[in-house]
Amino acid sequence: MKFTYKAYEELLSLLEKHGYTVCNYHNYQDHARSVIIRHDIDMDIAKALQVAKLEQGRGVCSTYFVLVTSDFYNIFSRQNQAMLRRICAMGHEVGLHFDEAKYDAQQTDMVQAIEQEAMLLEQCLGRATTSVSMHRPSQKTLEADYLIQGGKIVNSYGTEFFRKHKYVSDSRRNWREDVTAIVESGEYDRLHVLTHPFWYDEVERSAKEQLKTFCEAQTGLCYDRMKENVRNLEEFLLKIELGKE
Ligand SMILES: [Zn+2]
Repeated sequence: MKFTYKAYEELLSLLEKHGYTVCNYHNYQDHARSVIIRHDIDMDIAKALQVAKLEQGRGVCSTYFVLVTSDFYNIFSRQNQAMLRRICAMGHEVGLHFDEAKYDAQQTDMVQAIEQEAMLLEQCLGRATTSVSMHRPSQKTLEADYLIQGGKIVNSYGTEFFRKHKYVSDSRRNWREDVTAIVESGEYDRLHVLTHPFWYDEVERSAKEQLKTFCEAQTGLCYDRMKENVRNLEEFLLKIELGKE
């Protein structure tokens, strides 16, 4: 499968053709054949919004997971908060993406840390956080089967979704198993598909090209943000001096 919006749309069509209903972590049991589509937002909320719009155009609601501890984005910034709220307004769910690496594993009660971050996300979105996924989970976390807020917050790495569903992911821009073959096999009634919107675009790029494109765009964005915060920025530095128009 290619890493393009078109290929992703084809995957949605294929799922539909094989009788899968796109569900979330709360309603999959209402359907004989379900697929939970999960998108982890590791670096760029704008890319997630692109995929959210594309899904909305096809009447699909999925689940987006966002970090509250990211060095790449701040969910409370005006723009990011608006984008996340837009994703919610389309009918998608926005859950917490939890990065355990931010904490000292010896001294932290991870369940408590997840609950605290869930509260922050709740404040950002103005709605309850009801699901969590882990960012680069350790073996310990994978096996923990955490019970969060007494089960009110669904752990996407819980036994139900990680072991009893057929789980397939494009982590590190690589489908370790062929997702289209899995859908076409008709073997599984419960699918759990993880994608990272970051890797998808109108045209397919190699991982290197995609990463380079992102890094280069950040320079221009950084300048634009400075401009909003430094009066007469041009007197010090012109955007063109950074190789940006
Ligand atoms: Zn992640």
